[in-house]
Amino acid sequence: DTSHGAILYLEDITVSFDGFRALNKLNLDISVGELRCIIGPNGAGKTTMMDVITGKTRPTTGGAWFGQTIDLTRMTEYDIAHAGIGRKFQRPTVFEQHTVFENLELAMKMNKRVKPTLFFRLSSEQKGKIDEILKLIRLNGQEHRPAGLLSHGQKQWLEIGMLLMQEPQLLLLDEPVAGMSDAETARTAELLNELRGLHSIVVVEHDMAFVEEIAQQGVVTVLHEGSVLAQGTMQQVQSDDRVIEVYLGR
Ligand code: ADP
Repeated sequence: DTSHGAILYLEDITVSFDGFRALNKLNLDISVGELRCIIGPNGAGKTTMMDVITGKTRPTTGGAWFGQTIDLTRMTEYDIAHAGIGRKFQRPTVFEQHTVFENLELAMKMNKRVKPTLFFRLSSEQKGKIDEILKLIRLNGQEHRPAGLLSHGQKQWLEIGMLLMQEPQLLLLDEPVAGMSDAETARTAELLNELRGLHSIVVVEHDMAFVEEIAQQGVVTVLHEGSVLAQGTMQQVQSDDRVIEVYLGR
């Protein structure tokens, strides 16, 4: 049984748009605690795959399972989010008028697993959790700044922090370093390396240097024309002739 220990399991997923297959019998198996990088040229089906996992797009055929027993193909986007799949889109969506701290506080209060305290006053444990996330996302010392004044990269980190406050079991990151400076990209790699092993994470990314930084010895999946072209360590997929042809052969 290949799905043993999987937090996410996609089986023969096909998504057809007017006969065109954006995904074509895609299989994917993400283990608990894994950091999986998914790469592939434009049009490979990466966004469609994320849309299937989050319930935004229904597969034409195939199965999608979360935590062994939850059938994602039968759930709404809303229910999937509440079941514990957190997705970060390319564009950051933080509350610009609110401070960094308030953004994290709001995200914490939206977490169904956290019991509301009297008058929603934060317990010391909850404050401690926010402090911990502030350090992780490199925004400690900036917690009283309005989020609208942060740099693009800082907003992206804040949004990752907000997702973490909701304690997702699976974190989906859609091109997390798009539009970032080199320094911000390097810090994002550090951040993800700190999260490694603590969370199950799927990162879809174009930036190869960044993928090399975060993939380490983990599995990298290369999508092409809606299915898996190659899978293995970054070293293995980079030296795979089919991958080289898809990236450089045209
Ligand atoms: P990627 O994210 O890897 O660039 P996408 O998942 O966005 O790839 O797209 C895969 C293919 O499916 C592309 O050829 C795209 O044009 C097509 N596609 C995606 N969404 C739709 C849609 N809603 N209707 C028709 N074609 C679509």
